[in-house]
Amino acid sequence: MRNLGEKSELAVRRERLWSTLAGQKLHAFLTTALPNLHYLSGFTGSNGALLLCEDRALLFTDPRYATQAPQQSDCEVKIATGPLTREIAKWTRRLKVKILGFEQNRISFEEHGQLKASLPGVRLKPVLAAVEDLRMVKSEAEIGTIKASVRLNSAALEQALAHFRPSMTEVDFAAEIEYRMRLLGADSTAFETIVASGQRTALPHGHPTNHPVETDQLLLVDVGARVAGYASDMTRTYASGKLDAKIHRMYKAVLESQLAAIDAVKPGVSCAYVDRTAREILGGYGLDKLFVHSTGHGLGLEIHERPRIGKKERTQLQAGMAITIEPGVYQEGLGGIRIEDTVVVTARGSEVLTTTPKELVVL
Ligand code: ZN
Ligand code: ZN
Repeated sequence: MRNLGEKSELAVRRERLWSTLAGQKLHAFLTTALPNLHYLSGFTGSNGALLLCEDRALLFTDPRYATQAPQQSDCEVKIATGPLTREIAKWTRRLKVKILGFEQNRISFEEHGQLKASLPGVRLKPVLAAVEDLRMVKSEAEIGTIKASVRLNSAALEQALAHFRPSMTEVDFAAEIEYRMRLLGADSTAFETIVASGQRTALPHGHPTNHPVETDQLLLVDVGARVAGYASDMTRTYASGKLDAKIHRMYKAVLESQLAAIDAVKPGVSCAYVDRTAREILGGYGLDKLFVHSTGHGLGLEIHERPRIGKKERTQLQAGMAITIEPGVYQEGLGGIRIEDTVVVTARGSEVLTTTPKELVVL
């Protein structure tokens, strides 16, 4: 709903975007990616576009959202009864836009063709990830919402664990977590819940099956909630009884790697450095080759955002970035272990938002 504090934050975001685009000499900028639209206009519907000029912000959507759009957004709402592109073209002409920036990483080849055909005489200029770059650094209000999402996510997992029984299937347990999440007030899950047991934990993204969780096995759970639009993300690996010494050693290595990577998080440090820190610890155990993904990722309105905490990512961390730290090792035929927290970069280092314990828990 409309909220004055939020309204001014939306206007600040649009002003910031406009100033980052200054060098490109655009008359207007068009965003069609829904998370970017949400970020810049407050609108959360499933169909829309935002045309941004220096002094105006026009939000286009269809009649289903005629009531919702003006409630959520401080932009001028234009309801299109036909295709949005036709209405956008009409306003582009009316506002005498000759150079229009569009999101090259978000628009399909077909949409680009339609836009070009409906805007004769307008130069379409590709812009790469301008809104995504702005979204990397979160405001205090956004961090507050991410914290609420992380808290809810942890509470849902804790409640679901209290109902855990060894005969449960992976699907049962995933459903129990998601049910708790909904009862606690989440909009939805932030992604498809991952629950994998036994050797299936070696699949980094194992989707739950009807396989029962057996005793003396690993159980890997990767869950995220969406609260007021914002994602949380956490992975924990549990033991459903006794595990062999090799797995205990793997767990110790992953936990040490995760803690070291979190320690490396501070403003000015490159994402690649954080990634390397995690890998070096695993290397000391001879397990680095089993770590087959990047150390983490940004999150916010989307579950995967910039920056990527990966080997080649030169982006420097800045206070206000929300990221995950999630090293893992996966050995086919044996199992996998991943430990993931949601972390915020602060002025001096980092704050780990996830409070769920990380020592190996036997269920
Ligand atoms: Zn995750
Ligand atoms: Zn993640």
